Amino acid sequence: METINNLISKTSKYLTPAQILDIKNAFYFAEKSHSGQLRASGEPFIQHPLKTAIYLSNLHLDSEAISAALLHDVIEDCGINEEQIAKKFGEQVSKLVIGVTKLNRAEILNEETTKIVSTSNAASIRKMLISMSDDIRVVLIKLADRMHNMQTLKYLPKEKRISIAQETLEIYAPLAHRLGIWEMKWMLEDLAFQNLEPESYQKIAELLNSKRSEREEYINKVIEKTSTELKSFKINASIEGRPKHLFSIHKKIKKYSEMNRGISEIYDLFALRIIVNSVSDCYAALGAVHSIWHPITGVFDDYIASPKDNLYQSLHTTVICENSHPVEIQIRTKEMHELSEYGVAAHWLYKEGDINDSKFEHKMTWIRQLLEWQREISGSEEFVESFKTDIFNDQVFVYTPKGEIKELPIGATILDFAYLIHTEIGHRCVGGKRNGKLVSLNTKISNGDTVEIMTSKNIKGPSLDWINPDLNYVKTTSAKTKIRQWFNKQQKEFTLNNGKLILQKQLKKINETISLEELAQNSNFNSVDEMMFAVGSGNITLPQIINDLPQNQPKLDNDQVSKKITSPTSGIEVLGVGDLLTKIAKCCNPIPGDLIIGFITRSAGVTVHIKSCINIMNEKEKERLIPVNWREQQPSYPVDIKIESWDKVGLLNSITSVVSNEQINIGSCVSEEYDGFSTIKLNIYVNGIKQLGRIISKIESLEPVIEVNRVN
Ligand code: MN
Repeated sequence: METINNLISKTSKYLTPAQILDIKNAFYFAEKSHSGQLRASGEPFIQHPLKTAIYLSNLHLDSEAISAALLHDVIEDCGINEEQIAKKFGEQVSKLVIGVTKLNRAEILNEETTKIVSTSNAASIRKMLISMSDDIRVVLIKLADRMHNMQTLKYLPKEKRISIAQETLEIYAPLAHRLGIWEMKWMLEDLAFQNLEPESYQKIAELLNSKRSEREEYINKVIEKTSTELKSFKINASIEGRPKHLFSIHKKIKKYSEMNRGISEIYDLFALRIIVNSVSDCYAALGAVHSIWHPITGVFDDYIASPKDNLYQSLHTTVICENSHPVEIQIRTKEMHELSEYGVAAHWLYKEGDINDSKFEHKMTWIRQLLEWQREISGSEEFVESFKTDIFNDQVFVYTPKGEIKELPIGATILDFAYLIHTEIGHRCVGGKRNGKLVSLNTKISNGDTVEIMTSKNIKGPSLDWINPDLNYVKTTSAKTKIRQWFNKQQKEFTLNNGKLILQKQLKKINETISLEELAQNSNFNSVDEMMFAVGSGNITLPQIINDLPQNQPKLDNDQVSKKITSPTSGIEVLGVGDLLTKIAKCCNPIPGDLIIGFITRSAGVTVHIKSCINIMNEKEKERLIPVNWREQQPSYPVDIKIESWDKVGLLNSITSVVSNEQINIGSCVSEEYDGFSTIKLNIYVNGIKQLGRIISKIESLEPVIEVNRVN
């Protein structure tokens, strides 16, 4: 038998005397209302709400929730009405009690009409979440209520027992799981399991019991050794042998027997939990653990880097300990641990001693973003959606013209709603009707509104104003993301065009007529777009692309190497013919990196032209053309560049110092001035097109310089 004193002593630890008084008043009111009523167990009925409240006090819930837990059955069972509760205990408590009562009624309805358990339980949970979306505390009270009902289930007739246990297993345990309250989840599951499959339950309980002392001794030994090791790594940690849950073992046995494996192979019959101070300590502890015991490969999970759906975070590993027993080890921080045990209820735990609560808000922001992100990538899975809704009871529900319910955060606008319906509808949204009246895009919507969106076909995309935080056009992250994505896409097109322009301009600058398609095909890019994007975003320059072309790389094909004769006089190799002299054609003056071709002259060996040289293009005797390549080690080649610039004192000096900094020799320099403009023709010796490209852009970056081009 529980007493009010126990509840008082538990709540005194974290509530004020005034709040304790509220709780006392609620208790005496409930006790009086339920007087004379008995539970199926024969206990006075008040024991049930009292135990429900005590359970919630373990989760440090606030005084309103505790009071509501004490009063949760008075409307249903004692004919008290909501006005009475509101008057005596306030609006908030009354709302909570009504929430729980509604839920009880929904349950009864379900029992009479259809079997909840036969329908999809995700849908049922969703319904439950929506009906309780006003306040997450309703869910917590309902779960605590169910917990006590499960603990006293044995007093009910068998049929009722089975249907309640099944409902618990299929709805309430997953709900606790989704809310991240693991402790509750395990307890509900084990209780349901005990009632649904008493024989299996008994067998597993005996199995665990028969080896209990042996197991405990073993686990203690492992804890000791782990603890010593962690100390040597200077990691502060608390280590505990994790209590095993019968239902999870049962599920594992079933799974293993399907795989024809025995119970001895179930790793986490032995389990350990290490709680440390920081995330970096988690990984350090993992390292320490793996240094004493061999991890089983493929059983490691990093839920810190990728948290589970319900935000659970931990490192899981299974190692082979003494006597070759596998032991599952979970490593997490204290905060992760609290969140995993108490889930959303950790909200109240954290509030304790932290009045302005900034840490919690910070955490919630992070969780919100995570959920938002999950929703983006999981394709708005209904459940994640409603889970999010309910954890943060700050949602409004609005109707589409067809009567569908949509959920949005408080403060969401017509435009948010448009984006929620469809991205394209958001982009083209020009206004909306709220409850039949025309309103502007940034009008906030309220609970119960019916919203109709108006779009225009002439509008191509959103306005930048929409993501201006001062103008409050949208509230939801998903709408903001979609608007940004639209602009990013525009940006992408801009970058592509920009890349194309740069490429065309630079190709012209260095006198190459290779097409962009050809260039992309021969380089490492998968497409012209990819190449244009890389250039447009400044990740690569044209000279780099040309320099990386395969014909500018040393050949590795042995057959070709043997046939390849290197002309002794230059840095050019002529493929597939005998010893021939090569010389550089004067008409186009190629330098290394240029795409080149040889022309077999009648007297003087091979003349090397740029592939696109006008003389080559016009050449009728194509059979006289021969493939040639630049050699790997290249001497310097002369090239002419023309610099157009504003005339400025010291101009020539800055140009020549740029050139000499590159350790390039200047062959000649001719400078002309006219009406404030300078034209400088420079003959320089470069080792290839990469160097030429670099020198051109360096000179172009000098302040008075307008343009630099290669000339022939
Ligand atoms: Mn109840």
